[in-house]
Amino acid sequence: SSAVKMDHPDKEALRGEVVPVVIIGNGPSGICLSYLLSGYTAYLSPDAAHPNPLLQSKLEEQPHLSLLEQDLEYLCEGLEGRSSNPVAVLFDSLLLPNSDFGLEHISPLEWRHRPEHAIPHLVLGKGPPGGAWHAMEGSMLTLSLANWMELPGLKLKDWMRDKRRNVRNDRATPAEIASYYQHYVSKMSLEQNFACGTTVTSVTRQAGTQDGAPPCWRIKGLQRREGEVLGDGCSAPEAEPFSLLAHNVVLATGTHDVPARLGVEGESLPFVHHSFWELEAAISRGELSHTSDPVLVVGAGLTAADAVLASHHLNAPVYHVFRRSVADPELIFNQLPKLLYPEYHKIHQMMTQQQYQPSPASYSGYLSFPQCRVVKFRPDRKCVLQWDSGQQTVVQISRALVLIGALPNLSFLRDNGRPLGLSPKEAITCRRNPIDVDPYTNSVLAAEGPGMYAMGPLVGENFVRFLKGGALAIASHLNRKRREARGGGPP
Ligand SMILES: Cc1cc2nc3c(=O)[nH]c(=O)nc-3n(C[C@H](O)[C@H](O)[C@H](O)COP(=O)(O)OP(=O)(O)OC[C@H]3O[C@@H](n4cnc5c(N)ncnc54)[C@H](O)[C@@H]3O)c2cc1C
Repeated sequence: SSAVKMDHPDKEALRGEVVPVVIIGNGPSGICLSYLLSGYTAYLSPDAAHPNPLLQSKLEEQPHLSLLEQDLEYLCEGLEGRSSNPVAVLFDSLLLPNSDFGLEHISPLEWRHRPEHAIPHLVLGKGPPGGAWHAMEGSMLTLSLANWMELPGLKLKDWMRDKRRNVRNDRATPAEIASYYQHYVSKMSLEQNFACGTTVTSVTRQAGTQDGAPPCWRIKGLQRREGEVLGDGCSAPEAEPFSLLAHNVVLATGTHDVPARLGVEGESLPFVHHSFWELEAAISRGELSHTSDPVLVVGAGLTAADAVLASHHLNAPVYHVFRRSVADPELIFNQLPKLLYPEYHKIHQMMTQQQYQPSPASYSGYLSFPQCRVVKFRPDRKCVLQWDSGQQTVVQISRALVLIGALPNLSFLRDNGRPLGLSPKEAITCRRNPIDVDPYTNSVLAAEGPGMYAMGPLVGENFVRFLKGGALAIASHLNRKRREARGGGPP
């Protein structure tokens, strides 16, 4: 049995031993990798066929090999899809063949549980399994079709049916997805690998010792635990430090930890918020109504759109400020099919049709300010805006919500992980500067030693649909290293 007791990463067993794999982050990335490392292996099902005949014939060449033993680079050749990562396209096409065309073709993979193939590992995460999905606003529909968010081996639709929920529109709510991920971890018996309530504070390379112990990774952090019951009957969560050694470390922390800021004067004033939650809190305190001054929403992504929707529902007036023009093809609303996303289409219509005019003719509670930016917030709740033309306007607001995206928190790495990025001098971001990895193994190219991997939004793969490919690449590389260490024989 595995020597790693995950409930207590600071336990005796872990202090001395070197853990084969430590995964930092327990969102869909960490969960999917944990599944593949727990001995769940996929084989070509004898009676299924992949709609792509070339891929099918390649898979038939060595049907006795599991997907983790196949040559991924060979299987990937010639495949095309909506991700630039070849393994992501391969795995997606094996799990949900032809789903870009809205077809439901059965997967040619057959999953078998072979615990003897498992690689002991530990998944560390701040909150419950599910990552960013626990932090999203709970009632809106997700952007993606529901089955794109599912993980291998458990159909989201089957789980929803068991829970007697209707899948509206083929989309689910973030709360449902978060709950599915938590259920997945217990259903697949992965819990013993998860240490929730743990925050990693440093990852460093540890040199080998004179008595022959090889170099490895040192991972330090804090584990929150239920504190003793205080005099007033409340228990205080306490954090205890822990320190682990690992042969391999996987960065799967996502890129949603730190809200991005505008960097303007007055941004720290108490009426300026940077998360949707603060809007929800204000709503639940009854602070938003049609009589309040407008809420200023900054940003033109989906979180900003959700904030506009939520305020609009309560008839609270909204000013909506964003840098792009409403017709900009980069704008997410110009990329979403109207039929599937009616509520976002409605927002886009408002953004287009209800633009601010110096003398407003009709004001129905929403005004957009395209190609405009915030210059500063003043303590008297006035906000100075400036158009691309250089013209300025001052508006009176009740509160501001700056929802312009988020950045990863890689403070546990040297220089916040910058040296690992495509542009080593800049901060890591999902789109502009992801961590540079080998496309077939997800090994971090500029790591301080071997055995460091990264996946998910950190490597530019922001959709659950495609981040699963990173898990396949990493699991297959770890398996190969293990087979080679054992002399090339089967694991
Ligand atoms: C508003 C919004 C809507 C979205 N809609 C969709 C959608 O419709 N479809 C889709 O596919 N994707 C969507 N996404 C993107 C989705 O969130 C990501 O694809 C996915 O969650 C990334 O998974 P991950 O496991 O890599 O990272 P995350 O889900 O971010 O999980 C990583 C976890 O690691 C934790 N962590 C970070 N640092 C540490 C540390 N030092 N120690 C311990 N733990 C740490 C984080 O707190 C987090 O819980 C959306 C994102 C947002 C913000």
